[in-house]
Amino acid sequence: MTGWRAVDDEIARWGEAGRKATLWWRDDDAMDATPALDRLLDLHCAAKVPLALAIVPATATPALAERLAHTPGVDLLQHGYAHTNHAPAPDKKMELGPHRPAMFVLGELGTGRMALERLFGDRVLPVLVPPWNRIAPALVPTLPEVGYRGLSTFGSRRRACPVSGLVQVNAHVDLIDWQSRRFVGEEAAIAALAQALVASRTGTDEPVGVLSHHLAMDEGAWDFLNSLWERISSMPGLKIAPAHDLFASREPRV
Ligand SMILES: [Zn+2]
Repeated sequence: MTGWRAVDDEIARWGEAGRKATLWWRDDDAMDATPALDRLLDLHCAAKVPLALAIVPATATPALAERLAHTPGVDLLQHGYAHTNHAPAPDKKMELGPHRPAMFVLGELGTGRMALERLFGDRVLPVLVPPWNRIAPALVPTLPEVGYRGLSTFGSRRRACPVSGLVQVNAHVDLIDWQSRRFVGEEAAIAALAQALVASRTGTDEPVGVLSHHLAMDEGAWDFLNSLWERISSMPGLKIAPAHDLFASREPRV
């Protein structure tokens, strides 16, 4: 467990600066009530760590709504529309890319948002999590116009508010290596966490997001997630914040 030393040291640096590091937890690709979802929600309840669940609107089921109705305290986010790739090979996968007319993409997002509201009511935050964490830059300025207040992708954000009325809070620590579809390993996950904490303290001031995928995680990833929350949720030098706080707009709406 020597790798944790880098995280412990970094948290100490936050403390020396009189600051508290902020973390948050995003899990993607929820569609249905499954044993893996049960495992995720059990972990959330046992660890008492706030969870934000990104749901795919086009395939979200009433069974998922029923399951989540029994688990208050989970923030719900919109994960694109159908998690369908529209980029031609060999380009990186994108649902919200420049490959289709913007009005069409935005219309689909609106349909998805209505589907989520029908199933989950006002528990859904007006926050968009683009599938594959990618969105055409040209679409971003229009997001507040169609009702979104938050955007979450992957990696260090450039600005806290990419456009007026839109708060961006990303994820930084992906537990899965998507080439092998296995856990990235404890060493890599801890290194990514430490690196994101340094970047936040020294520049971006961004909450550090841990990204899980309950449907794709192997035992190594589950074990790490478990020990991560066990270890850091009691650390005095940091707080783990709910998405509804992080995405609350910090500037007057226009
Ligand atoms: Zn996804």
